[in-house]
Amino acid sequence: MSCPRIEVDLSKIRRNTQTVVRQLGARGIDVTGVTKASCGHPAIAQAMLDGGALGLADARINNVQRLRQAGITCPVTLIRTPMLSQADEVVEFCEVSYNTEIAVITALASAAIRRDKVHGIILMVELGDGREGISSEHVAEIAQEIMTMQGVALKGIGANFACLSGIAPTASQMASLCDLANEIETVCGPLLKTVSGGNSATLPWALGWRSTGRINDLRLGEAILLGVEPVTGEQIDGMQTDAFTLIAEVIEKGAKPAPFPIALVDPTLVKLRIVPTSGVSRRLILALGHQDTDISGLSMPVGSTKIGATSDHFVIETMRSPLRLGSEVSFQMNYSALMYAMAAPDIEVKLLDDRPARQTRHTQGKSERLTLV
Ligand SMILES: *Cc1c(COP(=O)(O)O)cnc(C)c1O
Repeated sequence: MSCPRIEVDLSKIRRNTQTVVRQLGARGIDVTGVTKASCGHPAIAQAMLDGGALGLADARINNVQRLRQAGITCPVTLIRTPMLSQADEVVEFCEVSYNTEIAVITALASAAIRRDKVHGIILMVELGDGREGISSEHVAEIAQEIMTMQGVALKGIGANFACLSGIAPTASQMASLCDLANEIETVCGPLLKTVSGGNSATLPWALGWRSTGRINDLRLGEAILLGVEPVTGEQIDGMQTDAFTLIAEVIEKGAKPAPFPIALVDPTLVKLRIVPTSGVSRRLILALGHQDTDISGLSMPVGSTKIGATSDHFVIETMRSPLRLGSEVSFQMNYSALMYAMAAPDIEVKLLDDRPARQTRHTQGKSERLTLV
């Protein structure tokens, strides 16, 4: 089988989606599955839909086109404010987009009119993350302006948290978003279909003890794909964290005399470096590098440590044996490693499903694998 590769267990993505859909559904909140970390991979998107996600969202129009070309017809929302230069494509491939700039909304309206369509607008409000969004005092005014435009229809408001700041939303920020929804409806009428409370970092709030108010949508990527809560990196109860596995092949093995040439380092530091001297520890080089993934975002298998990586080589030291040339080593990835690896041209994405999943074990006879626990 080709290496490096990512094995994706679609049944785990489906189950993770079902879990959040069930929990949030009980609070009147729908799930929009975010596909950007998988570059809009259609099978992964379909697993989210099969698990109960009401629609999909992505940040890039190319990823949305990939979904459409694969025959996915559900509503797809662009969650990054569109480039002015892409207004036509946005209207063509997405029902709705998140917006922060009136000039972009105007361009979307013109593009929609040319196509005899009405494009949905969700206004993104800035409530403290410091990334995108309209400041809350201007939202109602912009909403009113949209009401006067042809070709676009105001569908909702949303906010985003923890992306730039790394700070999860507070109850008072969530209450502000609900207040803004009410304020807009006071001036524009009851037209806000969606009040989107954020990304995976909003899950703890949404599943907490407080009332979730008017929030009726969350846009979830990381929670579904990796089963973790982004701010803490902790596993979410009941979620699978191993839907994705990155597998790389050993291309060189054997002990090296020292971790690195002593002349290259400060001699006073050399003795501080702990070098395993046990005969069972050995260096391996894997055919994987910075060009493929965020090496720092890989979890090492038990008994193995990272020595270093370059663009195409990943040097590890392992107490586990026997690993031969051609053996495969498996890693779990964090969000950053996943995102780069899914976009890497040399990494094959191999889909496993509930039924064919176990068949892949037949290949193990050929090469041992080091698996994460
Ligand atoms: C990436 C993104 C999401 C999804 O974030 P996760 O942490 O993967 O759930 C949601 N909304 C916006 C605007 C995003 O950019």
